[in-house]
Amino acid sequence: MPIEIVEGDIADQPDLDAVVNAANAQLMPGGGVAGALHRAAGPQLAEACRPLAPIEPGQAVVTEGFALPNAWVIHALGPRYGIDNPSDELLAAAYRNILKAAANNGIRSIGCPALSAGAFGYPLEEAARIAVETVQQHAPAELVFRFVLFDGKTKDVFSRLVE
Ligand code: ADP
Repeated sequence: MPIEIVEGDIADQPDLDAVVNAANAQLMPGGGVAGALHRAAGPQLAEACRPLAPIEPGQAVVTEGFALPNAWVIHALGPRYGIDNPSDELLAAAYRNILKAAANNGIRSIGCPALSAGAFGYPLEEAARIAVETVQQHAPAELVFRFVLFDGKTKDVFSRLVE
């Protein structure tokens, strides 16, 4: 299964079926990844999210991508580090539920940010290890899974784990 690691913007991955939103429980626009995706998708995304909210840490739900170049958005809620416990199990569950959502919707390629590693405060090395291990263990061979990382340091940490 090819895991790709790129430095870039999750809202600008036009060749992928789906992108993952590092969502908040209310599935509302906000800062970080959620802000970027809602801005690029347009107001229809928040409308589509409203009846699906709230979600629990570890869960993932799917909407259309609207004005995004991607057909689908998988909204996944990572744990707030040290608040939603056990944080490691909830973070792994979020990645497993992303893969389940992809399988259920015929999604063959996914772009995904570093869930919980921003506003939710998860230490980068630990968040990256759980992300890479869970995807390596659970993704089907035919799925393209691209980690889209916003800065060079985060990209380097993920790259080292995939090698
Ligand atoms: P969380 O609340 O789950 O921590 P954030 O959106 O705050 O989610 O951050 C998750 C990670 O995504 C952080 O590493 C952050 O730097 C990164 N990030 C922020 N904006 C973008 C973007 N447009 N594309 C890709 N990654 C982003």
